[in-house]
Amino acid sequence: MLPRRRHELPPTAGLPLQLADLLPGAPTLAADVAAQLGTPPLQLACSGTAALLIALAALHELKPARHRVVMPAYTCPLVPLAVRQAGLEPVPCDLRPDHYDMEPHALRAACDERTLAILPTHLAGRVADVDDALAVANNVGAYVIEDAAQALGARRDGSSVGLAGDLGFFSLAAGKGLSIYEGGLLAARDPDLRERLARTAARIAKPSPSWELRRSAELLGYAALYRPHGLRLAYGNPLRRALRRGDPVAAVGDDFALPLPLHAVGRWRQAVGAHAARRLPAFIEQCGVRARRHLPRLRAIPGVAVLDDPAGAHGTWPFFFLLLRDQRHRDAALEQLWQAGYGVSRLFIHALPDYAYLDGIVPKADVPNARDFAARSLSIGNSAWLADADIDAVCGVLEAVA
Ligand SMILES: *Cc1c(COP(=O)(O)O)cnc(C)c1O
Repeated sequence: MLPRRRHELPPTAGLPLQLADLLPGAPTLAADVAAQLGTPPLQLACSGTAALLIALAALHELKPARHRVVMPAYTCPLVPLAVRQAGLEPVPCDLRPDHYDMEPHALRAACDERTLAILPTHLAGRVADVDDALAVANNVGAYVIEDAAQALGARRDGSSVGLAGDLGFFSLAAGKGLSIYEGGLLAARDPDLRERLARTAARIAKPSPSWELRRSAELLGYAALYRPHGLRLAYGNPLRRALRRGDPVAAVGDDFALPLPLHAVGRWRQAVGAHAARRLPAFIEQCGVRARRHLPRLRAIPGVAVLDDPAGAHGTWPFFFLLLRDQRHRDAALEQLWQAGYGVSRLFIHALPDYAYLDGIVPKADVPNARDFAARSLSIGNSAWLADADIDAVCGVLEAVA
């Protein structure tokens, strides 16, 4: 058994906040990130999910006869919940074998004249196949929304992800890189659509003093605890408690409930995000440097595949996403690693149709590749505190299991 690491590592690389970030300042977060990424103006929302809700509401006004939204069957459960809250129907689509992209034939079978939108998803910072989604969407007259919640800063052919489709969104949730505890950014190339999104947001996401107070307190807690000394309290101990009671869904924070909060983001949190965003380009770069250092070692382990980008794409590296030979090997590795404090975890526990609490929201569908993905995968957080000795320890376990 691997001894418990003295200080807990996080499961994903977040951008740590500094004391000076918490001072008041200009609420320029969305504009600053747009300038850094070279995107058209971005719209701030109170979460990635809220950004998706706003996008769906705006698109549904344009095509009110269409009610279905197609997404990978292995993605964040908040995605089908947002679709449901928007009054629409989630349609899970199976994955390509051993891959995060939707399977092209399954995608074509899932889409028709009832489809409002297709959500190619840049999972784990990897760059998804948006072109195939666009081809199908053009055929059936649907929109494409890029789910880039996990991929702020990822680029393809020189430009930011989130702009090849009609819309794209990023998450600013805790642990997803740059964070204001909960937040999201919405991108759209077309100025008319951006105006429509702004009008929709003004209508359905009004300021809420009580939510803002709560999120501000949570952001202070995040600033204090997102560091090796605090993560045991904020992350490791709750994780181990949930695992001890046999609740992996709670352990990874996969348990959500409707209704999802929808409100505007206050000025102070925007200022905090703007201060921290000055360090975003260097942060993304450093994650990439660490990834390139550790990837060869991880790839050399027999029976381990590490997800990577297609040619011409440069994803971000919030964590490494590994596929092991089978569920038995994956579970044997997690037996030693999940509770040991090395930032090893699972991403989403189930394929969407297999979450009990999504019963009645996500239709029961046969999605064998997504189920296989859920059963064989694990993640290794690529935070700044991940040292060579930590990767050595993790690789030692993976090699022994292999
Ligand atoms: C986290 C996540 C979301 C939702 O973003 P929030 O900011 O947490 O609301 C959507 N899609 C994916 C793939 C995610 O990982």
